[in-house]
Amino acid sequence: MMQNKYTKREFLKLLGAGSLGIFFMSFYKLDNLLEDDFLLLTKNDSTYNQYRKSFNKRIEKYPKYIAICKTDKAVQKAILMANDKNLKIAIRSGGHSFEGFSNIDNGMLIHLGLMKNITWLNNELVKLQPACLLQDVYDNILPKKRIIPTGSCGTVGISGLALGGGYGFFSRKYGLTCDSLLRVKMIDYKGNVIDSDQDKDLLWACKGGGNGNFGVITEMHFKTYKAPTSFSSYRLKFSNLTESKFIQLIKLWFQSTEKLPQEAFSAFVLNGKFLTILFTNFNESQSDFEKQFSQLIALATNYKKMPNRSLATALKSYYGVKEPIYFKNASAGLYQSISDIEKGLSEIYRKVTSVKGIIYQVNTLGGKINEIKSSATAYPHRDVNYLSELQSYWDKPEQEKALVTTFEEIQRLLRDLGNTKQYRNYPDINFPNANNSYYGNNLKRLQELKLKYDPKNTFDYPQVIK
Ligand SMILES: Cc1cc2nc3c(=O)[nH]c(=O)nc-3n(C[C@H](O)[C@H](O)[C@H](O)COP(=O)(O)OP(=O)(O)OC[C@H]3O[C@@H](n4cnc5c(N)ncnc54)[C@H](O)[C@@H]3O)c2cc1C
Repeated sequence: MMQNKYTKREFLKLLGAGSLGIFFMSFYKLDNLLEDDFLLLTKNDSTYNQYRKSFNKRIEKYPKYIAICKTDKAVQKAILMANDKNLKIAIRSGGHSFEGFSNIDNGMLIHLGLMKNITWLNNELVKLQPACLLQDVYDNILPKKRIIPTGSCGTVGISGLALGGGYGFFSRKYGLTCDSLLRVKMIDYKGNVIDSDQDKDLLWACKGGGNGNFGVITEMHFKTYKAPTSFSSYRLKFSNLTESKFIQLIKLWFQSTEKLPQEAFSAFVLNGKFLTILFTNFNESQSDFEKQFSQLIALATNYKKMPNRSLATALKSYYGVKEPIYFKNASAGLYQSISDIEKGLSEIYRKVTSVKGIIYQVNTLGGKINEIKSSATAYPHRDVNYLSELQSYWDKPEQEKALVTTFEEIQRLLRDLGNTKQYRNYPDINFPNANNSYYGNNLKRLQELKLKYDPKNTFDYPQVIK
């Protein structure tokens, strides 16, 4: 290991000069200053809290140590140290886990926030370190006229996203993010490096089942695709909804999205009595596209078309907030069609509109995602066409209780309608049989692989595969 140019005290003083509130900016500052590849923080260190906090301000966990690691050797050192002290390990890359699964009380947090290198292996293959944020990835690959099908939020980490699946604007054409994952390197509970080129089980498990379960992923190789030349968005707004109007619109939306081209994506976002519907399409030819949802356009209060924008500009407009916020979001079922929720539409509407701050969203999946066999990757849900997500946001901790109570009622309602398949990257701590919901028929194989890679359950979080 290289010698540090700064003493730890000098180093922490320098860090303390940065704004504590600017969570992600601080990674960059640290990156410039850190010459050593490993820094261990405890509760007594002034920057402990800065690195402990995750994107979701609702969840507070206090690890005994935070190991900030810049290299594989540093990760190995952190794992061996945790073993020596008999501590469980949580792993963090982008820190966006809905339920704070990338942190652990009284254990070792391995913080990979500095591992952000991007290396091109050839014109189509790129090697990413785990904490590359999606905005880092796009900043690097769009100028090369390439894309990876990822999600839309700029500050989500590529590894957390890909290890649990990963969907977004390009998924119906190119599959989930994990479907473009070709190779990974993982450091296991003993500090051994495993290369998926020598161990095919590992790649299978990391395509949808790899979040925090088996070891620390330190390298990911992705296939890239030719970037589209433009990106078009169509936004419809509907205000002052009533229950019957909501039912009419959601039925029309499901109908309009049944036969979308693979280049298109759509989201139905009910926020109180206000509905936004988004369609996007990156096909060069947009002729006839609006016809698919012309009935919705006719009913909209407001309709905005943003055709043929530059891809970089369009993607940036969906990057979202960067600073940590209070929220409770979760998967709210994966549907084949409206029939999975039809009987509960009135009740869904009443509950979502009963308290301010709840959002019920349904996104299109399908296309290429469903062309892959459900046993071919750990991600199992290859037979559904829609992913729904329940969201709630608030500013002050005292607002949490009312929102989360209604949130859980809606989750129960959706379960009672028979919706039990859930998306692992949108976890809910309250899902009964969570791992069955996330991994379906692939759970058994994942459990066998947990025994193979991490028999002592060194890597742990509340919904770890056991
Ligand atoms: C604002 C926001 C927008 C989002 N948008 C989308 C979207 O458009 N599409 C989509 O599919 N998802 C989306 N998500 C969900 C996102 O995919 C997950 O939250 C994802 O797991 C976050 O990854 P991360 O690295 O940022 O988070 P982290 O909290 O660092 O990690 C998440 C999980 O992965 C594990 N993990 C992280 N790094 C590693 C590693 N190197 N090795 C092993 N395990 C690791 C952690 O232990 C944890 O269990 C969004 C989330 C948020 C908060």
